Amino acid sequence: MKTYQEWQALRETLNVRSEAYINGQFTPAKKKGTTFECINPADETVLANVASCDEADVDIAVAAAKKVFRSGVWSEMAPGQRKRILQKWADLLEQHFDELALTDTLDMGKSISEMVNIDMPDSIDCLRWSAECIDKLYGEIAPTNSQNLALISHEPLGVVAIITPWNYPLMMVMWKIAPALAAGNSVILKPSEKSPLSALRIAELATQAGVPDGVFNVLPGFGHTAGKALALHHGVSTLAFTGSSRVAGMLMQYAGQSNMKRVWLEAGGKSPCIVFADCKDIQAAAQGAAVAIFTNQGEVCIACSRLYVHQSIKDEFLKHLLEAARQYVPGDPLDPATKMGPLVDKAQFERITGFIESAIADGATLELGGVPKYEDGKGFYAHPTIFSDANHEMEFVQEEIFGPVLAMMTFDTEEEAITLANDSKYGLGAAIWTADLSRAHRVSRKLESGMVWVNTWGDGDTTVPFGGVKASGNGRDKSWHALEKYTEVKNTWIRL
Ligand code: NAD
Repeated sequence: MKTYQEWQALRETLNVRSEAYINGQFTPAKKKGTTFECINPADETVLANVASCDEADVDIAVAAAKKVFRSGVWSEMAPGQRKRILQKWADLLEQHFDELALTDTLDMGKSISEMVNIDMPDSIDCLRWSAECIDKLYGEIAPTNSQNLALISHEPLGVVAIITPWNYPLMMVMWKIAPALAAGNSVILKPSEKSPLSALRIAELATQAGVPDGVFNVLPGFGHTAGKALALHHGVSTLAFTGSSRVAGMLMQYAGQSNMKRVWLEAGGKSPCIVFADCKDIQAAAQGAAVAIFTNQGEVCIACSRLYVHQSIKDEFLKHLLEAARQYVPGDPLDPATKMGPLVDKAQFERITGFIESAIADGATLELGGVPKYEDGKGFYAHPTIFSDANHEMEFVQEEIFGPVLAMMTFDTEEEAITLANDSKYGLGAAIWTADLSRAHRVSRKLESGMVWVNTWGDGDTTVPFGGVKASGNGRDKSWHALEKYTEVKNTWIRL
């Protein structure tokens, strides 16, 4: 890992791409001069003025993506050959590892150590794994009578539009584009306006690796502009989205208003963490609870922002929790020692401030942190904040905050813990701390959640699916289940 000084030096040489990437070329937005500012949240300097695409750019990109899809140059390429090109792309990402890690840290404020240890290896692994899968995906022959032959095959879908959030810029992009491209689709990616830079850089690396022009396009856009146009477009056959539940709901409507395109949604969360009195080590559980809320400044969809601790261990648990939380001192994310960077932007800073104020007004007890202070031009830093004596009537317990704010509550019985955990519109992740294996299985079955972690939080790799239920969405990223999203099952019936 590079030193703080080395990352700062690399920053001086960073060549940032700021135009849209369509049909294998960088191009300004069609409406000349339309750009938005990309700000480094650590010091509020402008990193780039990025092309802000709209309907006109979407039309051009969809036409190019569709044309290349129909040509078969990628969609009908032998899967083994597609695999080799994607593997070459992964090699290029490895060669540009530091540059890409630095780009995301500057763009959204996450710590460089996380980029180096989590986001980059995970993104590259996802690309390699998806590429490796694609020449192992067999079709089937249906058990019909002997006068007929029915073939069941997996076909690419056409033009897949992908809309992503900012909290894990490259990783969220890769979880979707890797299986979609491996399956033979043409992809149009609309990255978040808060962190579009790494997506633009990897697009040209894709071309360098041999991905044909028009197969992978990146259209940055501010807010709904390019995203809404993609979601309404009749040339787009599938829409895959990661972001808030609010926008996820709108996308379902856009699909219904246009061509009933498939819509896959990875949306918001308000994950519970339940600590039973029989957990093996209270201190380890408290440290785990801190990791589950303060990682990535709390800007994590699976952040366990609701903590339920058994009444009998509450005081000891809180003592260890506060100790663990104090280790998260916000600092320059380029310093490898920093565990917590700034929040992504001013809007997010104000949103978090609002929730902390509402928790105080609602009568929760402030144990640590509180309303963060802002100094003009010095970045959007917020300290870990912990409230106890919270309850489900309070807004900050029900709504996704997406920041370093934790609501601690207590429970008496296992049944009560399950009821409280499930009392949420979301159902993304959940963590349980217990030494009782039977209890772990029993509770896990009853939790309305796409993912459950026992005696840990957030662990996983490319082999396991990631996604939620209820307002947290549908479908899954990663694993074989991701490929299901980007292929269509076709049957061909032959009279013999
Ligand atoms: P967001 O919903 O505001 O934006 C997501 C993307 O949608 C961005 O690219 C944005 O420009 C675009 N967009 C906004 N309005 C649109 C519209 N009307 N039509 C089309 N596109 C539109 O979310 P965000 O603030 O970028 O990300 C944070 C959210 O993402 C949180 O809710 C978090 O839980 C969620 N998230 C979920 C997962 C998961 O796997 N479930 C992973 C990461 C983040």
